[in-house]
Amino acid sequence: MRKSQAVYLNRYLDGLSIQQDQWIDQEIDKLELTVLSKAPKQSTTLASFSGWLKHLLGTSVPAEEEAIRLWNRWKSFFVDSNLDSVTRKRTLLERDKFRCRYCFTYDQSGKSLHEHHVFPKARGGGFTLENLAIACEKCNLGIGNQILFPPDWVVGIRKK
Ligand SMILES: [Zn+2]
Repeated sequence: MRKSQAVYLNRYLDGLSIQQDQWIDQEIDKLELTVLSKAPKQSTTLASFSGWLKHLLGTSVPAEEEAIRLWNRWKSFFVDSNLDSVTRKRTLLERDKFRCRYCFTYDQSGKSLHEHHVFPKARGGGFTLENLAIACEKCNLGIGNQILFPPDWVVGIRKK
């Protein structure tokens, strides 16, 4: 884990009593996204996003390179993509191999499968390929407004 990530996650985790040595990369990845989900929707420029980050971190401002990485990550989950809905669903079905990402139900037609927001819309989640997972109706409705990462969630942070 990079030092700048450790600094801002430390701040966030202070209130959660999580020991740094208990962290595993996947949990760090999820926590990073959870922190990013709190960025205001109007952070549409790097300057405004960096302003929010600076406010969150106080004096511990990450290097510009790290701020850019976080901003891009935030956009890829929390700002709607420009894909039209038909192209988006087709792309997701092909990526997720026509299976529910939670219970692995298969539907060759894709008609019974839904686009599930990993971060619900109510929690800032966007219509983006990164934030959407194919899910059957039962899983989609069952998960509702909780944040539940699919079991095969790919960690976006490299191993130490
Ligand atoms: Zn399912």
